[in-house]
Amino acid sequence: MAYYAVPLSKLIEQFERLPGIGRKTAQRLAFFIMDGTESQAKSFAKAILEAKEKMHTCKICRNLTDKEVCDVCSDQARDHGIICVVEDPRDVVAFERTRDYKGLYHVLHGVISPMDGIGPEQLHIKDLIGRITGDVREVILATNPDVEGEATAMYLSRLIKPIGVKVTRIAYGIPVGGELEYADEVTLSRALEGRSEIN
Ligand SMILES: [Zn+2]
Repeated sequence: MAYYAVPLSKLIEQFERLPGIGRKTAQRLAFFIMDGTESQAKSFAKAILEAKEKMHTCKICRNLTDKEVCDVCSDQARDHGIICVVEDPRDVVAFERTRDYKGLYHVLHGVISPMDGIGPEQLHIKDLIGRITGDVREVILATNPDVEGEATAMYLSRLIKPIGVKVTRIAYGIPVGGELEYADEVTLSRALEGRSEIN
């Protein structure tokens, strides 16, 4: 068993907190930092602090941005009549990678999950409803095709349809239970193209 001096073991612990990082990888990363120069270590620490400090959610779509209104929402060349609703900022990145989608987004920051104590009021649903004004003609529900994602899509469609706007759900090119974020561009493009209206 290896024992480390406190400063090093603290660094290892911080790396170990990160998703997908086990004890061994955490040790490797910590030693990598130790092997580097002081200025490299400072840049690394600074990047973490700056990202955390400067990034926040767009006041319109709730995607992550360093501006008040994100680049997608402020782009007048995009179709402001379509809103694609996703669970997570990473899903926006996935859709943007396809280069096919030219509408806007709305990021919920989660899904309805009674098991985890997450109800509609904990998500950015009110903001979404507030955005559905006369200019919006379609809302695409692009939550993940798993139990929570489906339940959230159903909840949203019941809420949005009475407003009198077309509500669609992305097609199942994405494997059931799969995560949008990991779908390739072609699959995602097809899922978007093959979307169908919720009746
Ligand atoms: Zn935005």
